Amino acid sequence: MKSIEKKTDILIIGGGVTGSAIARELSRYNLDISLVEKESDVAVGTSKANSGIIHAGYNAAASSLKGKLNSRANPMFDKLCSDLQVPFKRIGSLVIAFNSDDLKILKFEKENGEKMGVRGLEIVSGDRLFEMEPHLNPDAQYALYAPTAGIVSSYEFTIALADNAVLNGVKVMLETEVTDIIIDNDQIKGVKTSKGIIYCSLLINAAGLWTDDIAKMAGHNNMKIKPRKGEYHLYDKSWGNIVNHVLFPTPAKSSKGILVTPTVHGNLMIGPNSDEVDDKEDLTTTSVGLNKVFAGAKRLIPGLSKRDIITSFSGLRACEESGDFIIGSSSQIKGLINVAGIQSPGLSSAPAIAEMVVDMIRDISQENDTGFEMLLKEDFKEKLPERYVFNDYNYDSWQQIVDSTPDYGEIICRCEQVTKGEIVNAIHRPIPARTLDAVKRRTRAGTGRCQGGFCGPRVLDIIADELEISPLEVTKKGRGSEILEGKTKDILLKAGEVDETV
Ligand SMILES: Cc1cc2nc3c(=O)[nH]c(=O)nc-3n(C[C@H](O)[C@H](O)[C@H](O)COP(=O)(O)OP(=O)(O)OC[C@H]3O[C@@H](n4cnc5c(N)ncnc54)[C@H](O)[C@@H]3O)c2cc1C
Repeated sequence: MKSIEKKTDILIIGGGVTGSAIARELSRYNLDISLVEKESDVAVGTSKANSGIIHAGYNAAASSLKGKLNSRANPMFDKLCSDLQVPFKRIGSLVIAFNSDDLKILKFEKENGEKMGVRGLEIVSGDRLFEMEPHLNPDAQYALYAPTAGIVSSYEFTIALADNAVLNGVKVMLETEVTDIIIDNDQIKGVKTSKGIIYCSLLINAAGLWTDDIAKMAGHNNMKIKPRKGEYHLYDKSWGNIVNHVLFPTPAKSSKGILVTPTVHGNLMIGPNSDEVDDKEDLTTTSVGLNKVFAGAKRLIPGLSKRDIITSFSGLRACEESGDFIIGSSSQIKGLINVAGIQSPGLSSAPAIAEMVVDMIRDISQENDTGFEMLLKEDFKEKLPERYVFNDYNYDSWQQIVDSTPDYGEIICRCEQVTKGEIVNAIHRPIPARTLDAVKRRTRAGTGRCQGGFCGPRVLDIIADELEISPLEVTKKGRGSEILEGKTKDILLKAGEVDETV
């Protein structure tokens, strides 16, 4: 592979929701911006596996960055998700209290939220509570109702932000890992990556769990990220209506507790637990952890059973010792902006984090000689082009789409009803889906009850055809996860079971 050497004004490390939101916000300006991501797709770190809740913003202290940015970002989601064609539902949340001690915490959270301008907070009880949630534990007594909480698919949101950034000129380089940082006179000059050198004037460290390692490469040693794991069970859509809101228990110190929520696509999700782990790549699920999740969820909804759980997964929170987000210029290295410790509510806060970082860059560019000036583009595209999703259409209007593009008439994933046209579109989006998992995240092919058992081989063929590669080269999630070993005929030939002329 030829080693690259390129120059950019601003380089962002990390294609999670933080890096992607920053890339999109920066792409409003006439700058040369690049984003590097070590994996084969964006949205594969913490932004892939979380609860997907857009929190109302009452949890974190009003004095914290987390609190301020969450409450500022929450109202932005309606327009953003509509512009980016990402499903988002403002279904509201309920924090459930079982006794008077719990009630004290609800009152505290309500007051805290009101200080930050969170609208509509209310303590509900009695018949009203059970009308809102008929399947709730009958021992529940009160709940803090936050009508502005919502649900979103965090990876679809992240991918759409990154797609939109690319559409506005950002260069996204996948499978490009930053391995070192080039510094001269305490000033960032660029980075070394697995693909070569990229010079830049400003470096934004949005590497999630690895932000402390990146900062360390630059000689900035005062940050320590500890991973904290959360495990989940995901239920089939037949359970999606058992709750109407996001249900939380009264929170514990280290997390908001094990929640029960419908997903934006109509499944039911329960989790997460909260356990410190040592390994930043430890995404295993354990029976101990998942039993804790099930017991915690059952305390809210006693009628839950383990029947119809279709998959389990885990995500890792990037916790910094301070407990708050760390967003700011390095005090030691000029040109380095750290965006670290972005644990929950990082997804909910991402649009406001992006605005904060852009304000910071504007100040830096005015004060220092960065070599660039921030001028707003006249042709910034707020919206992504329309995408067709079979489930969103009635028969007649879908038929019109099929008439112009017959691929939209062929169902590939039977569980989720995803057509070939949607898959082909995903493979050619600004950030192209080149793996089975990347197609799954963009189209839902493989997320249903059979978990890809039926559609997997067909998706593989479509990827091979569209990218004009051999089916043997198609992977589940990037290099090293090839799905096919070889042609059956070649194996039989080797074993001498068929002759070459057959
Ligand atoms: C269990 C759990 C539940 C959560 N629930 C919620 C919730 O309901 N609502 C909410 O608001 N927030 C929630 N969060 C928090 C939210 O998921 C995170 O705040 C957010 O996803 C962090 O995004 P990020 O972009 O900072 O990190 P990431 O998504 O991890 O992105 C960082 C990226 O950097 C890349 N990278 C790292 N090192 C390098 C390198 N050297 N070179 C190139 N690339 C590199 C990684 O591959 C990764 O893709 C939850 C988190 C967890 C774990």
